[in-house]
Amino acid sequence: MNKLFINFKSKEIKKIKNIKNYLGGKGANLVEMVKLGLPVPPGFTISTKVCQIFYKNNKNLSTKILKDIKKELQVIEKESKKKFGDLKNPLLISVRSGARVSMPGMMDTILNLGLNDQTVLALANKTSNMRFAKDSYRRFIQMYSNVVLGIEGYYFEELIENFKLTKGVLLDTDLDENDWDGLIRDFKEVVKNKTKKDFPQNVFEQLLGAISAVFLSWESKRAKTYRKLNQIPSEWGTAVNVQSMVFGNMGSDCATGVVFTRNPANGKNEIYGEYLINAQGEDVVAGTRTPQYITKEANKNSSSKKQSMEETMPKAFIQLKKILRILEKHYRDMQDVEFTIEKSKLWMLQTRSGKRTSRSAVKIAVDLVKEKLITKKEAVLRINPNSLETLLHPTLDEKSEINVIGKGLPASPGAASGKVVFSSDEAERLNGMMQDTILVRIETSPEDIHGMHAAKGILTSRGGMTSHAAVVARGMGRPCVSGSSEININYEEKIFKTSSLEVKEGDIITIDGSTGRIILGEVSTVKPEISGDFSKLMNWADKFRKLKIRTNAETPMDTKTARDFGAEGIGLCRTEHMFFDEERILSVREMILSKTKEKRANALKKLLPHQKKDFIEIFKIMNGLPVTVRLLDPPLHEFLPKNEKEINDVSNALDLSTKEIQSRIAELHEHNPMLGHRGCRLGISFPEIYEMQCRAIFEALIYCKKNKFKLIIPEIMIPLVSSEVEIKIMKDLVNRIAKKVQEENKININYLVGTMIELPRAAIKASEIAKHADFFSFGTNDLTQTTFGISRDDSGKFLNDYIENKIFDIDPFITIDEGVGELIEIALKKGKKQNKKIKLGICGEHGGDPKSINFCSKLGLNYVSCSPYRVPVARLAAAQAQLKE
Ligand code: PEP
Ligand code: MG
Repeated sequence: MNKLFINFKSKEIKKIKNIKNYLGGKGANLVEMVKLGLPVPPGFTISTKVCQIFYKNNKNLSTKILKDIKKELQVIEKESKKKFGDLKNPLLISVRSGARVSMPGMMDTILNLGLNDQTVLALANKTSNMRFAKDSYRRFIQMYSNVVLGIEGYYFEELIENFKLTKGVLLDTDLDENDWDGLIRDFKEVVKNKTKKDFPQNVFEQLLGAISAVFLSWESKRAKTYRKLNQIPSEWGTAVNVQSMVFGNMGSDCATGVVFTRNPANGKNEIYGEYLINAQGEDVVAGTRTPQYITKEANKNSSSKKQSMEETMPKAFIQLKKILRILEKHYRDMQDVEFTIEKSKLWMLQTRSGKRTSRSAVKIAVDLVKEKLITKKEAVLRINPNSLETLLHPTLDEKSEINVIGKGLPASPGAASGKVVFSSDEAERLNGMMQDTILVRIETSPEDIHGMHAAKGILTSRGGMTSHAAVVARGMGRPCVSGSSEININYEEKIFKTSSLEVKEGDIITIDGSTGRIILGEVSTVKPEISGDFSKLMNWADKFRKLKIRTNAETPMDTKTARDFGAEGIGLCRTEHMFFDEERILSVREMILSKTKEKRANALKKLLPHQKKDFIEIFKIMNGLPVTVRLLDPPLHEFLPKNEKEINDVSNALDLSTKEIQSRIAELHEHNPMLGHRGCRLGISFPEIYEMQCRAIFEALIYCKKNKFKLIIPEIMIPLVSSEVEIKIMKDLVNRIAKKVQEENKININYLVGTMIELPRAAIKASEIAKHADFFSFGTNDLTQTTFGISRDDSGKFLNDYIENKIFDIDPFITIDEGVGELIEIALKKGKKQNKKIKLGICGEHGGDPKSINFCSKLGLNYVSCSPYRVPVARLAAAQAQLKE
């Protein structure tokens, strides 16, 4: 199929294979709505191929393409019985972007195109409505100047606001035709000043400018950020939809709205949406006027004083309700629909799968199975595993005392606390300094995407449940309270005021996106649990997957959390994390700084009971499930005393002068500690450390046996092995201690010994290493670091350049890289050949990343191990991997 343009009614549509790839989501769905016989204004789609050609052609549209566009326009003219640029009955069009997947608000749209000083009069004549015609023209100048000519929107907004102030009115709808006429003059003046040219009067020039601008918006900063966050390839490009305008701003029998077939915030099966009488689409989305509800029910629940659409336009409401049902049945998913009512006639402008919160995504998927619209398999495949993490985020502890200072709409659930900031750049800056923020804006726009991502939560004073802030926050899983008219924001002074108090930039507030509450100060939160629909979906997922899911945990609390979230074992217990406790760190420092073996043994003796106690607790919680305990791994200097007080404490405990301590610290200094004296190299140099750790494990096991706890089989893991001899020496050490502890207690114990594969040499020499290993666990954090030779701690500084230059599609510390993947495959094959029974797992951060989990599932690993809060994500991702095979 090489037609670059497709009319919505074209028969050729049947020949197109991947219609969404070609026409973009919006175009494909418009075509689908036409097929369903729904009222769609005539139009055509300029395919994504044209966007690709545009970029290849130095961001130009060839004359051939322009000619074809004119031809397509003639089809619309015929259908609408209007003519583009005509002085009697002018056709006005909308030019809207539409990528393969929806990127709400990220790219540009232009409405009312085709208006100029002449056609505006024709439109007024034709409709006998001068006010409407002038209002449309000023909207067009405003939008076109912003999107195509690059003039900041506030120049125009300020003019309107000042004019309203002088006239003493509040709303745009209070302005009449003469007011708009004056403003149009002022707008054109701004254009002339800024561009040194008159506002374009030639309608074809306008059209060309608009199409190019939509294509160019594919490469805008905000679209790029959105693509990066959502892993959308830049080659896709966007389609452009050119469609005859229908008008929601012709008077009180006109309206425009956005409606979801189910409630996007909680998933309830009820129509949920907003509309504005006498308005155009951007008024709803931009939040310049706070819209009214669609249904009586929603009105009642929010105790809104304005009338719902069900009451003001009952006929159109009934028709809309019917259409929503048709669309949901057809797409077998919740839909997000845009519509316009022109002189009481309903027109459908767009339908797409609605963005929803993670909680409602789960509820909707489970409900659709109940309603027999989709299968369990489809339900499992529909949920984005990464989105589940937000369901596990803490909610406000209702028992704690809270000081509610205002309320808004519960736009995106979850609780978040942080410092108040009034700009996205500030949110990003503080995020870089690991500080939590709440982004407070009158309303957000696509320019705020980076700030919304950086902030922990978003609060706006304007806009409804479908405003930009609400939609984007839900998509990102950020808590959001929108449209709080109770707060008054002053950007200049960096404060917001409520009726009784003033909140400054930097003050801490909490927002509760589930109830809309704004609270002063930080509020304690509670851990959620997996129950209801979430638990149902997870159970379905568990039936589909083969891969086991373990967790990385070393404290009883984390272990318990992970078990509650469904972990089937511990895949990595980093024992060094147990050393940082205040009670223990001094003994650890004694151990490191001791010059003699005896002194070291003395310090280790003090550590033994602590380690043993931790292991007992963890083994108890794991109740028979496997536990991989890794012996000490990081470079010792991480534990060294850093400040004067710490040095003094160690000096007293060890009876060494502070000078001696300082010189010992200097001795231990390494230029490249990540590649230094760490991992099993410590076990080789100081076997007594590993001996103590093994003893703690075995004695804990014996304690559990004596106390008749359900026994676990510990898997003792040696870190950073690169050669056969290393693992052999370490295995002998483990066996020796096991034998000793068994003899001392006259009790037999079972255990396994294995290694991490986290160095390229270990992967390549896996046959030899496997001779001495019961299991391999891929430590992909270090394996990525050592394969690339990129420091995992410093890569953040230049990774963005690598992604920008398309050297990496994605951060290799997040998703397993191909080259690292090949090393894993080599190790796996060689390991299995040597030892058929070898257990294989992964415990790097990649163990919680859905794409990497897919890779591990395909390779046939036994398990992935991830942090406790990623366990449900991994359970779902593993099921999806299996279902996609
Ligand atoms: C790894 O390297 O992947 C790993 C799990 O170990 P750590 O992150 O503790 O170095
Ligand atoms: Mg490691």
